[in-house]
Amino acid sequence: MTDLTKLTAAQTAERIARGENSAVEVAEAHLARIEAVDEKVHAFLHIDREGALAAARRVDEQRAAGEPLGPLAGVPLALKDIFTTEGVPTTVGSKILEGWVPPYDATVTRRLKEAGVVVLGKTNMDEFAMGSSTENSAYGPTANPWDLTRIPGGSGGGSSAALASFQAPLAIGTDTGGSIRQPAAVTGTVGVKPTYGGVSRYGMVAFSSSLDQGGPCARTVLDAALLHEVIAGHDPMDSTSIDAPVPAVVEAARGGDVRGLRVGVVREFSGEGYQAGVMQRFTESVELLRELGAEVVEISCPSFTKALAAYYLIAPSECSSNLARFDAMRYGLRVGDDGSRSAEDVTALTREAGFGAEVKRRVMLGTYALSSGYYDAYYGSAQKVRTLITRDFQRAFESVDVLVSPTTPTTAFPIGERADDPMAMYLADLCTIPSNLAGNAAMSLPCGLAPEDGLPVGLQIIAPAMADDRLYRVGAAVEAAFQSRWGHPLLEEAPVL
Ligand code: GLN
Repeated sequence: MTDLTKLTAAQTAERIARGENSAVEVAEAHLARIEAVDEKVHAFLHIDREGALAAARRVDEQRAAGEPLGPLAGVPLALKDIFTTEGVPTTVGSKILEGWVPPYDATVTRRLKEAGVVVLGKTNMDEFAMGSSTENSAYGPTANPWDLTRIPGGSGGGSSAALASFQAPLAIGTDTGGSIRQPAAVTGTVGVKPTYGGVSRYGMVAFSSSLDQGGPCARTVLDAALLHEVIAGHDPMDSTSIDAPVPAVVEAARGGDVRGLRVGVVREFSGEGYQAGVMQRFTESVELLRELGAEVVEISCPSFTKALAAYYLIAPSECSSNLARFDAMRYGLRVGDDGSRSAEDVTALTREAGFGAEVKRRVMLGTYALSSGYYDAYYGSAQKVRTLITRDFQRAFESVDVLVSPTTPTTAFPIGERADDPMAMYLADLCTIPSNLAGNAAMSLPCGLAPEDGLPVGLQIIAPAMADDRLYRVGAAVEAAFQSRWGHPLLEEAPVL
């Protein structure tokens, strides 16, 4: 009998459309898988069994009535707990929103529902998406399905771990500095940060508004493209949403080809701090691109070396402003409201109890960087560096079609190893941050296992803004070549939980 949890989203949708399996059957298989393995993985913060089965039943009814089904109708999905879901708790991995039940759906949530996608539940994440390991979640860490003693990446570790442990074939993440791509890399899955403004931020709890971008996570490039098409597109509820047609990502994913493509290898993404096995797999991927007909050149983007410093001023600055709304009056937690205290004191006590250490660190850092007298030296300088990084990309894309790099400098590190060392943690996003600062599109896809530890390595592909389709065209070609030569490690070598 077919194991329904091992299929791709595209295969699952086809089986449902043909009537080989009902959507309810598919949802039940995934809910059973969650029941069996999530105690060990802890990918989910909340399982919406009733909601999932009701959504699946609707798809089955539509099919029975002969109504047209969308390309992902009936396919289960794990939703990062940063998107509001009407009637279903949304915590952002924080105690400050414990018990908050949103009265409305995020645009992403609404589009998923309208497409007949079956939302299984909400996934674990670093508190307010601040982190690179999911260890900053107020609800405990998520484990990497490849090795339960290691991190699944962050901040969207729950979404990627759900995919890698076959609890869902699709997931949604958000990427402010790498939180879709970095978990994808260390779990052997695919993750895409669309062009900034490509996917609506309405109902997506804000961390750093000029960087935050929702996007698709999946086990294959085609599945990611199918999901991208469902969630992307203009939304009048988000003032930064791009009012232009969505790039033809599904068509690109079906027509993988790199012949004649000019590929730039970013020189600055190598050297000290990069694990040998990661560089080995990356070098082989570049060789593969050449064999497949791409023209590979080295490109220098000198300002990228300053990206981390600029990001860790801009992101905290924006978060210090965005998180001011958690004042104990509007949402979730309220501490000390016994009639004896002022509103200010209740706000302070609530924020003290509700925010974790990393969130407090960033609010303080951001408030400092924005304060008068320091603004020009810190926030102002960081914005100038941001412009230089954007110019580096512009110059690079004059001579190449895409850029490539490892997604992360190392494979998944042990849980606890960097927990008390914020600087070491921040380094995990070295290669992903420039694309957030510039707003262009980027993907991570698996490119093999590192020889020294047998853990997944991610290849990052970077495309200009609004050329998201290029990621899928290149990604699909690379994925097909990898699989015909080396099989699919996640299906064949991932430890069975
Ligand atoms: N790791 C980075 C941070 O902590 C990026 C997080 C993200 O993309 N949400 O800010």
